[in-house]
Amino acid sequence: MLYYNMKNKTKNFIRQKQMRSETVRSLVECISRGIDTKRKIMAETGFSWGSVATLTTEFLDSGVIVEYNVENDRRTTHYRLTNDEYYALGVEVASRKISFSLAAADGTLLETLSFAVEPINNTNCCEIIKSAYEKYSADSRFDNDKILVTACALTGAVDGENLVWLFSPHHPEIKECELAVLKTVLPGKLKVEHDIFSKARSIYFHHHIEEKSSVFIHVGEGIGLAACTQGEFFSGKRGFSGEIGHIPFGSNNSAVCRCGKKGCLECSLSLEALKKYGVSSLAEPFTFLCVTAVNLFDPEYLVVGGEAVEEMIFSNSAHWQQTIRSGAWMQAPENILFYRMDDCLTSFGAALGCRRELVDFITLNVCR
Ligand SMILES: [Zn+2]
Repeated sequence: MLYYNMKNKTKNFIRQKQMRSETVRSLVECISRGIDTKRKIMAETGFSWGSVATLTTEFLDSGVIVEYNVENDRRTTHYRLTNDEYYALGVEVASRKISFSLAAADGTLLETLSFAVEPINNTNCCEIIKSAYEKYSADSRFDNDKILVTACALTGAVDGENLVWLFSPHHPEIKECELAVLKTVLPGKLKVEHDIFSKARSIYFHHHIEEKSSVFIHVGEGIGLAACTQGEFFSGKRGFSGEIGHIPFGSNNSAVCRCGKKGCLECSLSLEALKKYGVSSLAEPFTFLCVTAVNLFDPEYLVVGGEAVEEMIFSNSAHWQQTIRSGAWMQAPENILFYRMDDCLTSFGAALGCRRELVDFITLNVCR
């Protein structure tokens, strides 16, 4: 009997601890997303006024959050995460340049620095990233010891689980390049991801949209697509999802794609196609791309842009909204947003993808 009671007590204790850590995490996560008053937090989480009040006081005491007032409403207290305790670093490895963006847990961009680099191949890849980071670290105005996670945004195909860069159209010499050695070079936990996800996050942040149900498309040298359902980007079994540019398009399309196949959509819709055939030739494949994406995913947001189509879209965005809606199944989607590449900061988007790790770390610290 005694044994039974003790077992139950232990179980209850563990359950209470778990519940507390889940509650703390929800609250930290809310505040990190800019849900910044007690009332807003209550509405978002369903927690009672008492719980929210107790926890915010506790967070303030432990220095995890700070409170402030805004100009027009002195009576409401707002909260935000303390910005100078934990950082995430995003790294974009572009063709001749490596960029670094440092972000705080609430998504504040603290700084961005870029460095020109030599062409990257399998042999020099990690060394080049290492020396670029050393330059960044020397020039940075922030304490790099506070970086908890570093995320690298890479083009082509990436195996995020095993930290392998499989190949890249921008770096033809890259083939199954092992990046695990960077774990000892770059600060904090190391993540690598396809740069389409970083681009998407950066644009969503810029336009204040939630990624929960969305399709993001970038049309540049090739076509990238990132679909997000229930707040998670879908990457596929091998991490190759979103290769919509390599589905066949046009019955007379005999052009050879950079993937080696004939007649891919990218042959008709890319920077090269724009140069070869002119802007008017992009209309049909562009409509096909957007309508196909919408019909496949039925997103709340369709977010489209990229160097190849920017000029065409912004010369008449109302026309393109209407064309996509009238072509798509049941006039979806609710929101169509066109973006400009000037608003896209890939390295920042990579850092934004580390917010979950930062929130976890803060939660652990509070719950200690
Ligand atoms: Zn192809």
